[in-house]
Amino acid sequence: MAFEGLTERLQNAIAKLRRKGKISENDVKEVMREIRLALLEADVNFKVVKDFVKQVRTRAVGSEVLESLTPAQQIVKIVNEELIKVMGDEAVPLNHSKKIPTIIMMVGLQGAGKTTTASKLAAKLKRENKARPLMIAADVYRPAAIEQLKILGKENDIPVFEMGTDVSPVEIVRQGLAQATANKNDYVFIDTAGRLQIDEKLMAELAQIEELAQPDEILLTVDAMTGQNAVEVAQGFNDQLNITGVVLTKLDGDTRGGAALSIRAVTGKPIKFIGQGEKMDDLDVFYPDRMASRILG
Ligand code: GDP
Repeated sequence: MAFEGLTERLQNAIAKLRRKGKISENDVKEVMREIRLALLEADVNFKVVKDFVKQVRTRAVGSEVLESLTPAQQIVKIVNEELIKVMGDEAVPLNHSKKIPTIIMMVGLQGAGKTTTASKLAAKLKRENKARPLMIAADVYRPAAIEQLKILGKENDIPVFEMGTDVSPVEIVRQGLAQATANKNDYVFIDTAGRLQIDEKLMAELAQIEELAQPDEILLTVDAMTGQNAVEVAQGFNDQLNITGVVLTKLDGDTRGGAALSIRAVTGKPIKFIGQGEKMDDLDVFYPDRMASRILG
């Protein structure tokens, strides 16, 4: 289960305080030491941990906690609020263009979940907004990726624009956008190529697609299971493209929490959606407060 270790350690750290009546500064120090270790073990970025612990400690040694008759509850409240803050406070909605189509470009490493997420999101918009999306298959390096997008498109009754693997991705996007305009599609998803790691040639190509398509949204898809590595990848993409939001996938797995808690603080970009399974309706809006509750258990 996601966050299992983190939840358990945070709960244990705070449980020790529950046994005491009033607490001292030393007790705060002790609990903060344990919270710090719990976060590091969950693979949270060290700078994020440092700032988080400092923030909580400053508030926790305040008189309203030290003089409280329920100090453990006060600390839980502070930790909860700071978790929400570090994940961005509020849910951030998908960007929408004033005139159709809204263009959403999907980027991320191979296997992160771009193709699946594009289809999930297109299906969600179709279901909830009666949208008429078009998906463009611009991953010419893996024929299987085009095939996968076509299968998902067919299953969900969403048209897919493709030109096989012999045309440049930029050209495919150009023609795909022209088709979307002609067909009055209100959303366009551009499924781009990924690699096993960030590589300059790919980045240059993605930048060209961005330049041409001027997307309203560039959604970076990262695999929550990869922890700090997901954060580094996010930083790498964010340095070279105008990322507007992040999708954190595979939160149905036993991820430790590092990616969820670090990405916003490190990149400054909001997590907009979370993937929680392979099925089409396993995509949810990311709410920092719900995630904090989930982490605290
Ligand atoms: P891409 O290479 O970035 O396009 O990645 P894919 O969309 O092909 O996804 C790679 C694998 O991850 C596929 O088997 C997906 O079914 C799976 N996947 C994607 N999102 C999730 C998720 O939220 N949870 C789980 N369990 N699997 C996912």
